[in-house]
Amino acid sequence: MNNCTFTRSAKRVRDAASVAPGGVNSNFRLGVAPTPLVFERGEGAYLVDIDGNRLIDYYLALGPMVLGHSPRDVIDAARHQLDIGLLYGGQSELEYQAAEKIVDMVPCAERVRFTGSGTEAVQLALRLARAVTGRSVVIKFEGHYHGWMDSTLWSTSTPHDQLGPEDAPVKQPASAGQDLPAGQNLEVMSWNRAEPLVARLAKGDVAAVIMEATMCNSGGMFAKPGYLEAVREACTRHGTILIFDEVITGFRTAPGGAQQRLGVTPDLATFAKAIANGFSVAAVAGRADIMDRLADGSILHGGTYNAQPAAMAAAIATMERLSKPGAHDGMERQGRRLMQGIEAAFTAAGIPVNIGGYPQIFTVNLGLTEKPVNYRGLAKVDKAGYRKFTTALLKHGVRALERGAWFLSTEHDEAVIDKTLSSVREALAEVAPELKHLRN
Ligand code: PMP
Repeated sequence: MNNCTFTRSAKRVRDAASVAPGGVNSNFRLGVAPTPLVFERGEGAYLVDIDGNRLIDYYLALGPMVLGHSPRDVIDAARHQLDIGLLYGGQSELEYQAAEKIVDMVPCAERVRFTGSGTEAVQLALRLARAVTGRSVVIKFEGHYHGWMDSTLWSTSTPHDQLGPEDAPVKQPASAGQDLPAGQNLEVMSWNRAEPLVARLAKGDVAAVIMEATMCNSGGMFAKPGYLEAVREACTRHGTILIFDEVITGFRTAPGGAQQRLGVTPDLATFAKAIANGFSVAAVAGRADIMDRLADGSILHGGTYNAQPAAMAAAIATMERLSKPGAHDGMERQGRRLMQGIEAAFTAAGIPVNIGGYPQIFTVNLGLTEKPVNYRGLAKVDKAGYRKFTTALLKHGVRALERGAWFLSTEHDEAVIDKTLSSVREALAEVAPELKHLRN
């Protein structure tokens, strides 16, 4: 494919830094190589940037664009609502319909509350869990990301030489300026080890366990057989609320999310991203007896923009599409082809990779010879080497995340995957000499 250049984006981002710190509006958009990009428009599986490059997109806005960049049905639904009302500070029929749709689709969902972002959804789920149990302690896991709040942004990206012993992990804040006391009731454990978690829950003082039921953020990997079931059982036995953070996996991996695919139902789950294909919608869904505690007003949940009507219309249209029989089949098929094709290309070059996760969201872990079972298993990922690969790939017209994740949409058809794989081979041929230290 073409040899893309990004000089206009680089200049625009540099100049814009005089009004927008770093030229970006989320830190996850910093550090993109060779430069953060500035876009003009999106079309299906493609994004067009201000240098005129038409890039196959696997960022998909970090997950939301599950139906691609220009789904007519979603856009039309939102546009219709834009013409008749923007925000009411009251209810609309649309938010009830959207909630009904979630209740129909998601196993744990008996009740739903909408929020503006995944971070806020996590805040609500944890507040609910603490209020309902009367307990304070929340357990999270190394390498699992639940938003950027002071109370949960711990041990998300700890360098491997600072993790400490696996039975007593170091709890590390992930940002400068974080209010450290906000994390005092958070405990961090190593994921995918049932025994220590079950023993910890037996003390009877844990309000909630929160996890990505399938790890996606730090590296794609599934729970060991029986792990989720053991956690589910111990939470039930000891009165702890089990929260699956399905901000990435929700609606993307199956109509009912990872919980449906994995057959384990949490008490509460958080959703965002693929729920509304690019509109700011997030939600907490869960057991009626827990969620209904919000009804008397004693547990505060606010948000001026919650259930914004045009966003609700988009959410309904998105969920309608994703609830149709076979809606995920194309992504499943093409994602699997892509995973296999990437693996074959690296294997042919003699460079070890581990590819983990679902066909709709997987990660390529460069340099791993063993399958990781949790964050600690990702220690040997060659992040700098992978970045060289994604930088070369971008020049060949394919935009994939530098930290290893690949998001698919329904618009990534056979032809798009074929083009991607030829770019993968070309990029790999270019960077292979720089990755030769990994060769087996
Ligand atoms: N939880 C998970 C699992 C996520 O991946 C993210 C975002 N990447 C969040 C929570 C936070 O969501 P948001 O960016 O919408 O605040």
